[in-house]
Amino acid sequence: MTAKPARKGAPRSLPQPALPAPGDRRRFRDRLLTWYRRHGRDLPWRKTTDPYHILVSEIRPRRLQTIARESVARYGGRLPADEATLLSFEGIGAYTAGAIRSFAFRERAAILDTNVARVLFRVFIGSGDPKSAATKRHLWRLSETLMPVRHVFDFNQALMDLGAMVCVARNPRCFVCPMAKSCRTFPFTADRR
Ligand code: SF4
Repeated sequence: MTAKPARKGAPRSLPQPALPAPGDRRRFRDRLLTWYRRHGRDLPWRKTTDPYHILVSEIRPRRLQTIARESVARYGGRLPADEATLLSFEGIGAYTAGAIRSFAFRERAAILDTNVARVLFRVFIGSGDPKSAATKRHLWRLSETLMPVRHVFDFNQALMDLGAMVCVARNPRCFVCPMAKSCRTFPFTADRR
């Protein structure tokens, strides 16, 4: 089996904290997807599968120009779908590669933007430094492990929506949150900021 390429921004270190048990993973997915079907945002860019539209929604103009030039020079203007090639582009990191694969190519790919990292940290970790390299690596593993076999697009969108609408940085809405029963941070208090 070919080794997976190292993610930009996801340094390796040992030992690894435990991942949630299969039953906990399943409950998390079910709660998240049920909530999303009722409350998810109807964002216009969710209706596109054009890799360039996805890219534009994920990154800033200067990086976009560099990536566009590189894709013209190397791939005739088409963005590739595989992780290793996307990561070889200057300006595409682990999150953007995951977003392009998941949202444009509908591949089974994990994502970890700020909102997703906050949700996963609060639900499954709860204490410590959320920005440390070890935590970041664990959050990537969580995002990968929690991913369902089907409905990955909805699952990733739901994670982002939960972080943007309920588990917000300040004053998260814990009492209407679908994760309240299992969240290690519930109820969020000001001293956790
Ligand atoms: S219960 Fe509160 S802290 Fe936990 S995921 Fe929900 S909103 Fe975030």
